[in-house]
Amino acid sequence: MTLDNSMLDGTIASIDGAVRRLGLEDDMRQVLVEPWREIQVGLPVRMDDGNIRVFKGYRSQHNAARGPYKGGIRYHPHADLEHTRALGMLMTWKTALADVPFGGAKGGVSVDPRELSTGELNRLTRRYTLSMHHVLGVNRDIPAPDLGTSAQTMAWIMDAYGSIHGHTPGIVTGKPVELGGSVGRAEAPGRGVAVVACRAIVDYGSSPEHSRVAIQGYGAVGSAAARTMFDRGANVIAVSDMHGAIVNTSGLDIDQLERIVAGGGNISDLADADQLTNAELLELECDVLIPAAIEDVITTSNASNIRAKIIVEGANRPVTSEADQVLSDANILVIPDILANAGGVVASYFEWAQNIQVFNWELDRVNRELDQMMNRAYEVTKERKDRNGGSTRDAAFDVAVGRVARVIKIRGYVG
Ligand code: NAD
Repeated sequence: MTLDNSMLDGTIASIDGAVRRLGLEDDMRQVLVEPWREIQVGLPVRMDDGNIRVFKGYRSQHNAARGPYKGGIRYHPHADLEHTRALGMLMTWKTALADVPFGGAKGGVSVDPRELSTGELNRLTRRYTLSMHHVLGVNRDIPAPDLGTSAQTMAWIMDAYGSIHGHTPGIVTGKPVELGGSVGRAEAPGRGVAVVACRAIVDYGSSPEHSRVAIQGYGAVGSAAARTMFDRGANVIAVSDMHGAIVNTSGLDIDQLERIVAGGGNISDLADADQLTNAELLELECDVLIPAAIEDVITTSNASNIRAKIIVEGANRPVTSEADQVLSDANILVIPDILANAGGVVASYFEWAQNIQVFNWELDRVNRELDQMMNRAYEVTKERKDRNGGSTRDAAFDVAVGRVARVIKIRGYVG
């Protein structure tokens, strides 16, 4: 993971572009760019060997004009305030574009979760929650899982928060279903990626059935995207994980692949597939490329070798700003992250709504409403692009930034 300033710079450049195109004042730009609240905490944790280790924890609450702050908590050795801030900003635009009643935030702890025991992770998560509970809340800030955290982490947060405030399932989303999590939440980001990918394919004049799809990262997002694309008739020709990639230009057997991975196997165990590297996967000839692993994988060093017609950003910021330009010059359509992977936060909204109403939805309803909201976000972005020109990323930011700016004005937030 590249944790330099490129993501923050890229996001601010996108906001600046939208501010210019929308004709917003410089005062408004400052309100849009500046996080509304940021916290850095020291988290002392008793380790299994009896020693105390102090971890650093962060929460960047970027903007709550449209509703409570919303965003994941990431456990990663390189997590820091700057990177957390960039990810929090992205959440503001993602929630606005998806039109869910949330703002944007992100949290992080500088830790390699693989080095900690389950007990140590539990204690670390409780300490984080106790240090932050005064700025969290069902109507204030609602965390979710991100890299290095899981449904289990959310269960610990809910439990620690509940020990102070009483039973509060709506304090986190992405929880285990037994504790009020929503069915379909785990698959939602990948399903949403596939929904917009299929719309883009049709707008390109083709159909899912005639499309070859390559997916980098066969994790939560990539595997659900592969499943949904496969169900909609697409040929998923390549997938990868951090160890390497597999390809079969006639299409991978996704049913078989799911069984292998569910049984603890590796993607490389799939029969009828050739091995290749992650770099080679990105440069495969295909209709749709879905980078769904990490940020900054398509840069100026490989952008001119990309042979996909459409790139759908499953991961956050997998395409750098400079590479965006190269792809645009080559007439490659890029569906940006704030649109493509918004399915996670849309399903989080459903989970939060279910928790508040103490009423659980069936999977069919979750998927139906998810598809509807993803389609609406796609359409509003396309309308803006058709009217104003520019890239799909520009159009998505214009819609999102315009919505947030409008609400800031109506609220009278700036006196
Ligand atoms: P995950 O950990 O479940 O899966 C990540 C996958 O990428 C794994 O298969 C891993 O092996 C692979 N990978 C890791 N490093 C790699 C590398 N250097 N090269 C190639 N592959 C690599 O994570 P996820 O939840 O699927 O998230 C993937 C991306 O999508 C992240 O950028 C995340 O921020 C973003 N995202 C996730 C969600 C969500 O709710 N899960 C929502 C929106 C965006």
